Amino acid sequence: MEAKKMFINGEWVESSSGSVRDIINPYNREIIATVSEGSIDDAKHAIAAARKAFNENDWAAIPATERGKVVHEIADLIERDREELADLESLDTGKTVAESLIDMDDIAAVFRYYAELADKEADGEMINSPIPNSTSKIVREPIGVCSQITPWNYPLLQASWKLAPALAAGNTLVMKPSEITPLTSIKVFELMEEAGVPKGVVNLVLGPGKSVGEELASNEDVDLVSFTGGLETGKKIMQAASSNVKKLALELGGKNPNVIFADADFDTAVDQAMNAVFFHAGQVCSAGTRLIVEERIHDKFVDALVKRVKKIRLGSGFEESTQMGPLISKEHLNKVIDYVEKGKREGATVAAGGGIPDNPELQNGFFYLPTVLTDCTTDMRVVQDEGFGPVITVEKFTTEEEAVQLANDSIYGLSGGVFTNDIAKAERFVAKMRMGTVWINDVNLYFPQAPWGGYKQSGIGRELGKTGLEEYQEIKHIFRNLKPKPLNWFK
Ligand code: NAD
Repeated sequence: MEAKKMFINGEWVESSSGSVRDIINPYNREIIATVSEGSIDDAKHAIAAARKAFNENDWAAIPATERGKVVHEIADLIERDREELADLESLDTGKTVAESLIDMDDIAAVFRYYAELADKEADGEMINSPIPNSTSKIVREPIGVCSQITPWNYPLLQASWKLAPALAAGNTLVMKPSEITPLTSIKVFELMEEAGVPKGVVNLVLGPGKSVGEELASNEDVDLVSFTGGLETGKKIMQAASSNVKKLALELGGKNPNVIFADADFDTAVDQAMNAVFFHAGQVCSAGTRLIVEERIHDKFVDALVKRVKKIRLGSGFEESTQMGPLISKEHLNKVIDYVEKGKREGATVAAGGGIPDNPELQNGFFYLPTVLTDCTTDMRVVQDEGFGPVITVEKFTTEEEAVQLANDSIYGLSGGVFTNDIAKAERFVAKMRMGTVWINDVNLYFPQAPWGGYKQSGIGRELGKTGLEEYQEIKHIFRNLKPKPLNWFK
């Protein structure tokens, strides 16, 4: 199998070290591709290409409308290759093709959104200058060379949230996808080449975080690093980025509450409590893994939830009957196993799942049973730590104040849901939630128009929405004196 290449300075190249990596299908451990494993030198080479392309201005200087057209073309090509991309994403991540198809539609929509936004404020904004005989104008300009580092759970979706606004704003970039899920990112770089993005503007380096990732975060020719991934890696990137005071965008983890009041529509809340956690086997940063239920419906709610959770069908993402695929890797499966074992030792009760399935057909894959842990309290590690697996912990509350306090009791602040039919209560509640996205009577919804990001240790900055474009822009104030004459201060 020929190793897939990296894209540097408009050319498809092998790793300078000659290293390659096998990409594994998490459903059956088969090798689905071999890719070049980049090195620090490759990262430096890619950054130099992006720097040159930015300095020579061939992308930032073209009219914003023209940049928007190229970004539209990328969206067209993603739509054209939607099924191929979805299959590739499912092969690489194990998620169901139905989920990957939704991802591809969302990805095309993100490119379209930023394509439209590209020229919207390109002329800048005049403000009222308080100085007589002068004008003041505010313009937004590209930041420069951007490093973009993405995780394995939504490989192309997370990439699109970075690529589309960076391009629309006129930056050049180097992307490093997760080393274990690079396939759709490689394909989208082919599409960007086909769409006519000029040489050196977009560069793709494959390889591990330690080496390639660290170089992207620390190299002084880089002006901004945008990272999506785990909290501990985020902290390292923040330190590395301090080398030249890079702009920083961090989308980190979450431990997201889903609060159910007794007056909520019961069946909807049970259904959505499952949707909140078991999509993509819980490997979702905004998964509502902390279920917090009003005491008077707690037992009935848990019974209904457990009955349905036990029926979730595990299998290949390519089978239509499959509702949940495997975890991403053996290493991650072991982490989820340890996480649940820790919960049991802390006193949680396993009401469903709690281990690997015994179905012989699933033994080659990294499967874990959809799991419900009850008798959980806020002080337990299993309630506080991001498990990133198909595991839901259940806590109880009696008053609204207690529910707010529980929901906010986390180092994270990415997202949260609340279910109630009392809209005044819902409004009061979400006003007190310390999270970047809150849902009333829904879960896990996002779209290109609305900013996405976290409070507290869930990150810095926002992707998506207008803010997602602004992350990739510097702001310049242009002051013009209309009647220049000597001040004579130092006469
Ligand atoms: P990770 O932090 O292990 O890796 C993410 C990326 O960082 C990978 O490309 C990796 O190679 C790279 N990396 C690792 N060490 C590095 C270093 N020292 N310097 C530079 N780069 C380095 O995360 P993961 O396991 O791939 O993804 C799961 C995590 O991502 C979860 O915590 C999840 O919550 C988070 N996530 C957050 C969001 C969000 O929008 N907030 C979205 C998706 C995933």
